[in-house]
Amino acid sequence: MTTALDTRPLDLLADFPAIPAGWAYLDTAATAQKPKPVIDAITRGYGETYATVHRGVYQRSVDMTFAFEAARERVAKFLGGAAREIIFVRGATEGINLVAQCWAGTHLKAGDRILLSTLEHHSNIVPWQMVAERVGAAIDVVPLTADQRIDLDAMAAMLTPAHKLVALAHVSNVLGSVLDARRAADLAHGVGAKILLDGCQAVPRIAVDMAALDCDFYVFSGHKLYGPTGIGVLWGRYELLDAMPPYQGGGSMIDRVTFARTTYAPPPGRFEAGTPHIVGVVGLHAAIDYVDSIGLDRIHAHEMALVRQTREALSKLNSVTLFGPEDSAGIVSFAVEGVHPHDVATILDEGNVAIRAGHHCAQPLMDALGVPATARASFGVYNGADDIAALVAGIERVTRIFG
Ligand code: PMP
Repeated sequence: MTTALDTRPLDLLADFPAIPAGWAYLDTAATAQKPKPVIDAITRGYGETYATVHRGVYQRSVDMTFAFEAARERVAKFLGGAAREIIFVRGATEGINLVAQCWAGTHLKAGDRILLSTLEHHSNIVPWQMVAERVGAAIDVVPLTADQRIDLDAMAAMLTPAHKLVALAHVSNVLGSVLDARRAADLAHGVGAKILLDGCQAVPRIAVDMAALDCDFYVFSGHKLYGPTGIGVLWGRYELLDAMPPYQGGGSMIDRVTFARTTYAPPPGRFEAGTPHIVGVVGLHAAIDYVDSIGLDRIHAHEMALVRQTREALSKLNSVTLFGPEDSAGIVSFAVEGVHPHDVATILDEGNVAIRAGHHCAQPLMDALGVPATARASFGVYNGADDIAALVAGIERVTRIFG
């Protein structure tokens, strides 16, 4: 069903103090703007309730620990997992590195293979290259379909028992392509491989459920989910986490330390060395509450409608090439003929439209698309039809300027 977008259907702009009137913020795939409840939770976290966690016996610290662990429960409920399966990390990047070092680094051996796809973010490529080089494993790359999704038929044909790990983006940060994650998981498990999903762009856009996806590891970054930077989540099946050695050593991750021998805490503590990003965790809790109060089904429908309207409007401009599938989730990459994406973005900025231009940390995808960079508009809950109108007017101006 197509929603008419002559008004802001979610009407949430008032919740976002950092978006001034007339500014079309179309870079949510890079990072989302923060709603008042998240800003308030962070302000309260530092300004009223602050203390360390897991250490103090005084009441303030006990309360902060309670809030910290309540956030873990909240994330678990949001993802459909158990609290002990939620590891707080700095972001998706750290989550993937953790799995690469602690799971792949201890389970893979020379001759094993890792399967990635052409559209992966560098965060879901480089950590695997590092571990593959260390253990002597090889990396294979699933190509894209003609409409620029991860080609699961090709993946089915490529998988062999030598593949021990598959790591794929649930939603592409460049193309917005949504993976049939359950089919990917079934294919991976069919040859005995584990599967990690990079949920950075999925979690703010579509409801996810770990049991339904049947994946083994899932990562996302808080700042793309309307939460603070510096905090993210790794979800892993408990039995896998429990069999993994720690990532970093330090306070909090131990059971008992002597100079002769140290034993480690069970997950999640084992993977959370040092004082955590306490207020970041509290802010993430508020962000999840905020997103759930709107409802991911509504957010998804809203962003799909924005994508439809954008693609429709841009496809009428002869100079514009669109990338990605028609039903991309909240993200539209495009090129303007004869104009470098950086010039497109600069001219759009003069008209108060903020988009991203570049390789989007996906250089192999740029190579596959045969372009050095793309321009990318990405949507959030605060965007509406007026933002699309500003984008289209800006691109028309680009075309006029460059003739
Ligand atoms: N994967 C995808 C698909 C992303 O969009 C991003 C952020 N652009 C990342 C991984 C890395 O996230 P972060 O930089 O927050 O760790």
